Amino acid sequence: MSYIEFQNVSRIYQNRWYALQNVSFSIGKGEFVFIIGPTGAGKTTLLSHIYFKEFPTSGRVSVLGYSSDTISRDEIPFLRRKIGVIFQDFKLLFDRNVLKNVSIALEVTGESPRNARRKAIEVLDKLGMADKAEKMPNELSGGEGQKVAIARALVREPYILLADEPTGNIDPESSEEIFKILKRVNDRGTTVIVATHNYNFLEKVVRKRVISLKAGKIESDEKFYIK
Ligand code: ADP
Repeated sequence: MSYIEFQNVSRIYQNRWYALQNVSFSIGKGEFVFIIGPTGAGKTTLLSHIYFKEFPTSGRVSVLGYSSDTISRDEIPFLRRKIGVIFQDFKLLFDRNVLKNVSIALEVTGESPRNARRKAIEVLDKLGMADKAEKMPNELSGGEGQKVAIARALVREPYILLADEPTGNIDPESSEEIFKILKRVNDRGTTVIVATHNYNFLEKVVRKRVISLKAGKIESDEKFYIK
């Protein structure tokens, strides 16, 4: 079953630059996909179309039954509840502690503070971060900050997890840990899509698919099942 489908998607910024040009692919339930390519290739733009932060200039994006042609403004938050997103700079709330950074993701969907807190502790515990629950974001290392961001994404039990250059700001050792976590999340059935120019880590994920972008176009789309 296809979770994400791009059909001849082009995105032009300011009427002159093709950030994406005639991009077509589909991603099924449970896949692990890397989007690779140099800075400016269109990786962030591509991910932004999956959670309808950006819309195609032409072509169509379909995600979890919603289409860029027909989705209404009111429906977008419902789609986004099913998609976790993590970023290079984590985007944590710096005036809230770790626990609140995670639980708030559920509170804004209407979950009671008590349940939100309980689920947040559970997820932090699975990522080995329970003992950091009371810490403030500026007291965390880069790797820990990204784990909080992952916890915040996972607490909503998303169908799809998007990661935009997730290890761009962290040391190699923690980066490896982050990739192992993403792999584990995928092993439990979540579709995971990682945009990165950190090719070193490709080898660490055995069952993978790599979509390579260059100047907004798909250069290759290959599946590798064996190292
Ligand atoms: P990547 O994530 O691979 O580095 P991006 O998707 O961020 O690539 O950018 C693709 C191209 O689109 C780049 O040339 C970038 O400068 C341009 N671009 C991205 N966002 C905008 C924007 N909001 N306005 C104008 N140009 C943009």
